[in-house]
Amino acid sequence: MPAEIISGTEIAKEIREELKQEIAEVKEKHNLVPGLVTVLVGEDPASQVYVGQKEKTSHALGIYSERHDLPADTTQEDLLALIDKLNKDPKIHGILVQLPLPKHINETEVLYAIDPKKDVDGFHPVNVGKLMIGEPDYLPCTPHGIQQLLIRSGVKIEGAEVVIVGRSNIVGKPIANILLQKREGANATVTVCHTRSKDMSFHTKRADILIVAAGRPKAITADMVKDGVVVIDVGVNQLGETPEGKRILCGDVDFDAVKEKAKAITPVPGGVGPMTITMLMMNTVRAAKLAAGLD
Ligand code: NAP
Repeated sequence: MPAEIISGTEIAKEIREELKQEIAEVKEKHNLVPGLVTVLVGEDPASQVYVGQKEKTSHALGIYSERHDLPADTTQEDLLALIDKLNKDPKIHGILVQLPLPKHINETEVLYAIDPKKDVDGFHPVNVGKLMIGEPDYLPCTPHGIQQLLIRSGVKIEGAEVVIVGRSNIVGKPIANILLQKREGANATVTVCHTRSKDMSFHTKRADILIVAAGRPKAITADMVKDGVVVIDVGVNQLGETPEGKRILCGDVDFDAVKEKAKAITPVPGGVGPMTITMLMMNTVRAAKLAAGLD
């Protein structure tokens, strides 16, 4: 039987409705308006689209939104000075510096300069460390979105064999940490694969839940998974463009073939993608509540 399609579009919509209500409630009861600032350096077209989407979603949910577009030749000193100012601004609860930054700027230094309490991306070492020891304030957005997709689709994570393909700091490692936590919605047995893993199929075939974040189009084929697996495809690969100039995207999983064996699977697009911005909004609300002593 073909797999159930886990729709990130639908689940993200559901979470955004919940957030909208929560935001209206904190505003009414506590006069608190969560505030998110995005900082964009340079004119990278993809980054401009992402920042625009974040701004639009903030407005739609009732989050106060500020945007700083800086020229590509902005110095590191000036960028750090802006972050320092935003760290001290009480209207702002979340700071997001859009990556990648121009080459002359040290990305690590900039991310480390963000106050961990306003680090709604969850990339600051303080927040990475807190997640590692099981006491997170913020979960990084894409991995948190993956966990929510599983929970809200009724997938049993506790005790499941979870295999993750990819070990990046933004997806592979944090989702491994999240699903390994000793708490509800986690408690999985986790294996992480990468380019040096021997016999990948051995691992992927054991998976009850397979999470793929490799950035390799259709790398996971039907012969690499077992019947009844739940597949979360994080990959976004551009195969080309339609004559109308629309991007043709595919994931890291051979969707058409794998869906015939899987119990459930996320599509690309419409799977993990819509969840990432939604979880950013959730973190901003949490940051505002933490700052106000409400959480
Ligand atoms: P990344 O930093 O390039 O990391 C890719 C990881 O996959 C690396 O750990 C690499 O192993 C591993 N890998 C690559 N090819 C492999 C193979 N053939 N077998 C086993 N492991 C392999 O990528 P990322 O930032 O994590 O992103 C991964 C994908 O997810 C990309 O397509 C990206 O666009 C997408 N993504 C989507 C969202 C979203 O919101 N939808 C968010 C983030 C990322 P090594 O460490 O050994 O090199």
